[in-house]
Amino acid sequence: AVSPFLAPPILTTESTTPSIIHIKRDQLLAKPLSASAEPLTTRFGSFPVSSLLNIPYGSQEESKGFVYILAPTPELWTTSLPHRTQVVYTPDSSYVLSRLRVRPGQTIIEAGAGSGSFTHAAVRAIYGGPEGKGKVLSFEFHAQRAERLREELKDHGLSQHVKLIEGDVCEDGFTFNPSLDKPHTTKPTDPDSVYPDPHAIFLDLPSPHLAIPNIRESTKHAVHLCCFSPCVEQVTKTHTALHAGRWQSVETVELSHRRLEVYYTPKDTVSGDCGSFNEALDKLKVLARGRRERIEKGRWASGQEVDDTEIDQMVEDKKAKSRAKQEGPQQRRPKPTLNDLKLGPKTGEFIPVISRYEPELKTHTSYLTFATLPIKWDEEEEKECKEKVEREK
Ligand code: SAM
Repeated sequence: AVSPFLAPPILTTESTTPSIIHIKRDQLLAKPLSASAEPLTTRFGSFPVSSLLNIPYGSQEESKGFVYILAPTPELWTTSLPHRTQVVYTPDSSYVLSRLRVRPGQTIIEAGAGSGSFTHAAVRAIYGGPEGKGKVLSFEFHAQRAERLREELKDHGLSQHVKLIEGDVCEDGFTFNPSLDKPHTTKPTDPDSVYPDPHAIFLDLPSPHLAIPNIRESTKHAVHLCCFSPCVEQVTKTHTALHAGRWQSVETVELSHRRLEVYYTPKDTVSGDCGSFNEALDKLKVLARGRRERIEKGRWASGQEVDDTEIDQMVEDKKAKSRAKQEGPQQRRPKPTLNDLKLGPKTGEFIPVISRYEPELKTHTSYLTFATLPIKWDEEEEKECKEKVEREK
């Protein structure tokens, strides 16, 4: 089977392939495309869907020339999805999935499903494996949200990889009835309900500590857990719940994504230092003074009164300016060009400083608590093992 996230090179007129339409850098539209779909209306005009079909992902729509058609990756879906709740952004979901050691063919539980951002990233992580067995079991107790996500997953061709269950994991745990198709509620008392024996669990809900006691040990593998909590009070309760069980390797981390941008700054010809805080402050003062001078000049010209001390200050400023002029250009800092700042010095007159961090990366900071539930310990089995070792000695 072809992964729904591996872009087929050509979109066919028959398919209803989910696609991401790139309108502007910060405006992406997720849309299933088929020959019968409605024309796409944007603020740049209307596009017939036929002009978006049969072109490779990554290419530009030709009739108007600035709309791109992109493959429906979880990253692009996260940036374009309709928000019904807070969502998990890519920096967090990628870190969480790697720490949960999710691999193709595994079963992962998530609760709550919310807007389905994490769901899409999780599907890609479990996709494939022996007999394409990987599965995401997604619990959501809000009926409309569950139904809406079910429709989106169908549109995106992911229904067979995600089982959406309308249920309260704090009240009723993680059991479900596998024979029911639509989101449905099952109680643990339902004779057809089963516990899915997951490899990993991701909890993004307000009371993870109430859901943790409902997680069962596995006789086949360890269970890896992550709780995504916006406040430290939740973290404390989560730790208490984990320590009451057999959880191990309990750890809470907070991700902080900052891409530092290195710029160059003019070197001080006297001290050799780069610009200091005081120097920046001086610059601000000079700017403020210049502004005031312009205002004063205006008032003078229009015959308004000006305070004596203000005039003294202006005279002082003028003197300072002409002194600086006399000191000559070599005493002043060279004026950096944009290339100097971005690409670095050609003259040795600039030195690098780390001055800014990327402000635009979308992420929603939360505390991430990880823990592992080891394989179920069996006293009988251990006794047998010990006896076997003794016999073989
Ligand atoms: N992880 C989701 C995403 O990336 O789009 C966002 C999850 S949202 C912050 C939390 C969701 O948990 C809400 O939709 C809420 O209805 C659901 N929820 C809260 N408590 C729940 C519970 N006990 N059982 C199931 N779902 C629950």
